Parts: sequence; C-alpha cells; structure tokens
Amino acid sequence: MAHADGPSQDDERALLDEIGKWLTRDVEPNVMRMEHADEYPIAFIERMKEFGLFGATISPEFGGLGLSTAGYARIVARISETWMSLTGFFNTHLLMSRIVEMHGTEHQKRYWLPRFASGEIRGAIGLTEPGGGTDLQSIRTRAKKIGNDRYAISGSKTWITNGVEGGAVGLLVKTDPEAEPRHRGMSMFIAPKADPETGIAYKGFRTGRKLPKLGYKGIDSGELFFEDYELDAERHLVGGIEGRGFHMAMSSLELGRINVAARGVGVARRALTEALAYAQGRETFGKPIAEHQAIQLKLAEMATRVRASELLVEDAAAAFDAGRRSDMEAGMAKYFATEAALENAIEAMRIHGGYGYSRDFPVERLYRDAPLLCIGEGTNEMQRIVIARQLVARNPA
Ligand SMILES: Cc1cc2nc3c(=O)[nH]c(=O)nc-3n(C[C@H](O)[C@H](O)[C@H](O)COP(=O)(O)OP(=O)(O)OC[C@H]3O[C@@H](n4cnc5c(N)ncnc54)[C@H](O)[C@@H]3O)c2cc1C
Repeated sequence: MAHADGPSQDDERALLDEIGKWLTRDVEPNVMRMEHADEYPIAFIERMKEFGLFGATISPEFGGLGLSTAGYARIVARISETWMSLTGFFNTHLLMSRIVEMHGTEHQKRYWLPRFASGEIRGAIGLTEPGGGTDLQSIRTRAKKIGNDRYAISGSKTWITNGVEGGAVGLLVKTDPEAEPRHRGMSMFIAPKADPETGIAYKGFRTGRKLPKLGYKGIDSGELFFEDYELDAERHLVGGIEGRGFHMAMSSLELGRINVAARGVGVARRALTEALAYAQGRETFGKPIAEHQAIQLKLAEMATRVRASELLVEDAAAAFDAGRRSDMEAGMAKYFATEAALENAIEAMRIHGGYGYSRDFPVERLYRDAPLLCIGEGTNEMQRIVIARQLVARNPA
C-alpha cells in the first residue's frame, strides 16, 4: 500500500536524481574493481543509510521514507544499472521490515521499525533451508515453546542474503511440525544476533560460510545455524501468534518480486546502453556494426524488452500501491523483466564479440548477475504457476 504520509512525486524524483549522481560519481568508477575482488562495500552501505534506503518502504511514522512502490522500484532499477548487488542490501531487509509493519504488534512495530529504518539493525529474510527453497512448507527449523513466553529455536538456513553480515533475520520456523495443512504450523520470528540494547550476543545463533557465487558479488549470501537459540514471544514472535508465518512470508514476497523485477529492468537497460554504445563505435566491413541488420534486430528486441519490463513493473507497483491483490502482476513483472535481463545480457555479450567475454567490460558482470534474478524470490517456473492460478481464479469459466 502507498503511505498516506509519504513523500510527493517531486520529492521521489529529487531523491532518484541524487542517487543517480552518487552512482555516477562514486560508485561507477569503482564497481569493476570491487566486484571482481568480491569486496564488501561498507562505504556504499553507509551512504545508502544516509539516503534513507534502509527505510525506503517503511512508514514515516516509524522513521522510514514511506516511498511509493513505484518510486522505490525506479530507485532499485537505477541502482541495478550501476551495480545490482547494492540493491540486495536493502531488499530482504525491507521484506523483514514489511512483515513487522504489516503483521507485528504495536509494541513490535515501535521497537523494531525505527531501528530497521535507520539501518542501525540491517536484516535479512530466512526462508530457504538446505532441504529446499521452493517447497517452503517442508522446512525443518523448529521453535519449541519452553515457557509461557519463551521459545528455543534449532535448525539451519542457507543462502540467506545479509545473514552473515546483518544483525537480524526474519526467520520462518515450524512451531507445530505435525500441523495439517502444513502452513498452519509455521511462524515468523524477528531473530537478532544480539540484544539490540546491550549488544550482548545471544547464545545459539551461529553464522556459517558466505557461499561462493557466480555473480551478485560484494554481498553475502550464507549459512545460519540455530541451536537452542532462545527468544521471547512478546518482542520476537511476529504478531504474538503462532501459525501465521507462511502467510507473512508470502505477503512480503509481492514487494520482493517487484524489487527483483526492477533489478531486471536495471540490468536489461544497462545491457542495452552498453550494446548501443559499442555497436555505434565498432566498425566491421567499413561501417559501424549498428548498421548491419543482424545487429539492428538484436538492438530492437533488446529495447522492446526494456520498455515492456518497465511497463510491467509500473503496472505491478501501481496495483500494489492501490492496495489491490497483486501477486499476478508482481509475478508477471518478475518473470518477464528477469528473463529480459538474462536475454539482454547475452545479446549485449554477442554484440561485443570477443570483448563481451572480457572482464574489462561490464557486460560479463551483467551476464553473471542476471540468472540469479530468475531464481531468487521464487523461481520463474513458480512465477508462471502463480500467474496461471490467478488467471483461472480471476476468470472462472
Ligand atoms: C544468491 C542467492 C541469494 C539468495 N537469498 C536468499 C535469501 O535472502 N533468503 C532466502 O530465504 N533464500 C534465498 N535464496 C534462496 C532462493 O530463494 C532459492 O534458491 C529458490 O527459492 C529456489 O529454491 P532451491 O534452491 O531450494 O531450489 P528447489 O526448490 O530445489 O528447485 C529446483 C528446481 O525445481 C523447480 N521446482 C521446484 N518445485 C517446483 C514445482 N512445484 N513446479 C515446477 N517446478 C518446480 C524450481 O523452479 C527449480 O527450477 C537465495 C538464493 C541465491 C542463489
């Protein structure tokens, strides 16, 4: 939903403009080096905190910017044109925040959201386990009640972006492994590594490896282990009730899918920009390759994919901001824009010829970053299933 007390469209445009200048001046000159070194971009994270991006979609009431989803998506697309990894630092953080804002108790909202909005606590979303990501209802991490208000959590998560470096995780667990249907036995906890007030580390929460990745460098995606990790319900069990965790996770994923779709727009757009520039400068057989029909066909298809992706993201963001059910729209945007990113990345590589395969040009990074978008936040296989189910539900014969 759009925030009633959020900024005007002019304010959103001004912020986008500021971020664009920062990306051009400070980020772009360093991306190639930092990405290839897989360097954790701490200075960029601090700057994104100053822009307020860790509270981008949190209500101003709780210290956030309260951006519209459309405005937020434009920022995500713009950052992804320069370095997609940077959007990962606040994406899952904002999903965790959204879960608290939508489903938390008043006490939880007041306690957690200002800390999340300022970036004082940067967080993650912990759904996937070694046993599986798509079939979330089969997770095994267990929270056992050990007193009136206390739970002990044991289990493990994997691929958790910001899990190793961040301070807290929106943690999906089983509170009743025997429940049928299975989702009724699932609950959501806000799981910090340390007490936010004293800074004292909690026992039983251990981080594992940062997983080595093809692309999406700079940001950590890693393993988390829990062994009799104790939390109280009042502050940590979202909404103070068991059995709603699956629903909470799913409701946050609509926003997550719009974020990933917007990243697709950014990557697809950058691939087009690089290809357009290169095709006009590189000559073969006495003319720029942009004048060869085979290259023109590619450029035309790439540009069309970019525009179609932008429109699908705007459509999904508008539905989301209007408070309408938007899983189909978000699914279409995510599916199309991320496949567009993948196709544009490989076409940009082909247009660059041998240089497209070189680490001296940015297109090889786009080529390594794009496939993640087709997997994360629900695979594109699953997106098509979601779209088809909604199509049938909205159009009963
Ligand atoms: C870089 C990176 C970052 C990530 N960050 C996070 C994170 O922050 N938090 C988090 O919780 N997870 C994260 N993930 C995990 C990601 O969400 C999962 O990898 C993804 O959901 C797929 O789960 P899986 O890997 O277990 O594949 P599986 O679920 O085993 O799927 C394997 C294949 O089978 C297909 N498939 C499965 N079930 C069906 C079905 N019913 N019908 C048709 N096809 C099906 C899938 O589409 C896929 O092609 C991240 C992953 C990566 C690579």
